[in-house]
Amino acid sequence: MEGKAKTLPVHERFHSWQGEGVHLGRSAFFIRLFGCPVHCPWCDSAGTWHPDYVPKNVERFTADQLADEASKSGAKFAVITGGEPTIHDLSDLTTALKERGIGRHIETCGGFPIRGDFDWITLSPKWQKLPLMDNLPLASEFKLIVEDAESIGKWISTIGSSFSEGRPVWLHPEWSQHGNAEVLETITRCVKERGDPYRAGYQVHKLYRAD
Ligand code: SF4
Repeated sequence: MEGKAKTLPVHERFHSWQGEGVHLGRSAFFIRLFGCPVHCPWCDSAGTWHPDYVPKNVERFTADQLADEASKSGAKFAVITGGEPTIHDLSDLTTALKERGIGRHIETCGGFPIRGDFDWITLSPKWQKLPLMDNLPLASEFKLIVEDAESIGKWISTIGSSFSEGRPVWLHPEWSQHGNAEVLETITRCVKERGDPYRAGYQVHKLYRAD
């Protein structure tokens, strides 16, 4: 008798465009999974993990179902996000996407082993769960969340000034601070003083998005 196909708990999936990072503006199919043990105080995806928001019966889909939807969308790549997607084994999903010719991108805090085969890894470290050192070389780009004037310096001294080895390091204002002049000035100063690989970033999809 065949075993039951493995499924993933899915908060939402939709076709839109990538709102940040090197692939900004490109058509993308998003798969947002439930679950995150990191619990950042300013999390903008708390609906994926906070007990007040997570429904009792979460929808689950097989890797083939998700990959079929991604394929039908016409997007050239899927972004697997969360929550913290690496708490799940994503091997079946990345295999199914690859079989259909869909690129495999992920956004992760880097604090857990990454299971799956990815074309693009955005690593956004979080204080509540520091990245595994083994994951740093796997990242395609980094995203530092700038909460205050000290954030960038604290990250550089925690994970080392050469952690990126030339890969882009996006500096994003933590969204509740995106109008905070001190935070924005901190980002500007870092980019002007340090230059590449530091780049001023922004979550453009929070300004508008046509799902
Ligand atoms: Fe939210 Fe990401 Fe932090 Fe998890 S790691 S709490 S999903 S911001």
